[in-house]
Amino acid sequence: MRITVIGTGYLGAVHAACLAELGFEVLGVDSDPAKVAALQIGQPPFFEPGLADLLTRVLATGRLQFTTSLTEAADFGDVHFICVGTPQLPGSNAADLTQVTGAIAALTPLLTRPCLVIGKSTVPVGTASNIAELLTAAPAGAGVELAWNPEFLREGFAIEDTLSPDRLVFGIRSAQAELTLRSIYADAIQAGAPVVVTDFPTAELVKVAANAFLATKISFINAMAEVCEATGADVTELADALGHDPRIGRRFLNAGLGFGGGCLPKDIRAFMARADELGVPEAVEFLREVDSINLRRRDRTVAAARELAGGTLVDVKVACLGASFKPDSDDVRDSPALHVAQALHAEGALVRVTDPKSITNATDRYPHLSYVASPEAALAGADLTLLLTEWREYREIDPAAARPLVAKAIMLDGRNALDPQAWRSAGWVYRGIGRR
Ligand code: NAD
Repeated sequence: MRITVIGTGYLGAVHAACLAELGFEVLGVDSDPAKVAALQIGQPPFFEPGLADLLTRVLATGRLQFTTSLTEAADFGDVHFICVGTPQLPGSNAADLTQVTGAIAALTPLLTRPCLVIGKSTVPVGTASNIAELLTAAPAGAGVELAWNPEFLREGFAIEDTLSPDRLVFGIRSAQAELTLRSIYADAIQAGAPVVVTDFPTAELVKVAANAFLATKISFINAMAEVCEATGADVTELADALGHDPRIGRRFLNAGLGFGGGCLPKDIRAFMARADELGVPEAVEFLREVDSINLRRRDRTVAAARELAGGTLVDVKVACLGASFKPDSDDVRDSPALHVAQALHAEGALVRVTDPKSITNATDRYPHLSYVASPEAALAGADLTLLLTEWREYREIDPAAARPLVAKAIMLDGRNALDPQAWRSAGWVYRGIGRR
């Protein structure tokens, strides 16, 4: 089976490399020539742990190639995975589907032999049946089929999640499509990954419902953090106690700056927009509150910084540790860390941002902020320090060694990732989120 992966961004590049690792002949396709050129020489155009090594290994086998040509892809593939982006439409909550419709419109007239097109991008429910309709115009006619196979990988764990998924969801309309999907994922299924075989709308909904649930869990604990701040209770102890209940669980119950990135925020907004179109806006009305709790956390972090700085941020030297939306990724899309850094800058603070991997991406988005390469350079002479992304190297900073670097030893831990006792006993004023 020869497989193409159309769209080789955070999702597609990893998917393509993992399929080649599993032994398939794979052609990755992207409309961005710079991305393709980098991937062809084994240089991932973004940071994902292990991806550079994996690419080098599979490129050397000859099983993985990259191109910008959909004509080549149509000629090559028995299976075409659609992994293009579905960002938020500017000025709206809805998803911008132009990458998906553009890829399908360009691919369809080139499909002259039977194949399975498999959608992986996260799309509003109803998109798959529209795409199936578009594909009927392919020269190969009924030989071209569609399946929907949403992706649940987490950036930072993308290879592991792709090779050992916690579940596989197959939205299909024929037994043949299911067989093809089962043979692509044979290794994971053999290793015990559960398979849910379903229809298109359910498969599309699984992904957005999962992200809506995860976003709700994060905003729930952040709402509890607000109550803790008003009462002197400690949200970390609260979360630990709640998490012992197996019906609740401890994961995704960490209060902090909240969620960001290229998925959760835009996916819950697109879900609201789609529910509006479907005439069931009240079904996901709660997501509006989930979104606003999440954004409020950023404002409250800026307010806490202002208070710790003595009432004004004007000319206050602030060290911002972290820029990516989460550790082990260089993804700065809707990053809470950069949102806060930008807001501090807007209030007149002299902000210095550092991050192990995302300074280039951050500079592209916020060119006016000032960036330094190391935490030491960020801390030098700082009046206030904010931990905004919980990279391991920041969690492991020795507060006693960091103390002499700063002008004022004040730490605002936006991720509740540090040990308050250790920082306070090293002479720091420590403030977490909803924490004693
Ligand atoms: P991305 O922006 O990093 O990648 C999309 C890629 O598609 C880009 O490289 C772009 O150049 C390419 N592209 C656009 N139009 C094209 C076309 N016509 N032909 C070929 N290439 C084209 O986005 P991403 O983060 O990889 O996300 C892709 C999809 O996967 C989205 O729907 C997202 O919601 C979903 N998803 C992402 C993740 C994640 O962790 N990033 C996880 C699960 C699902």
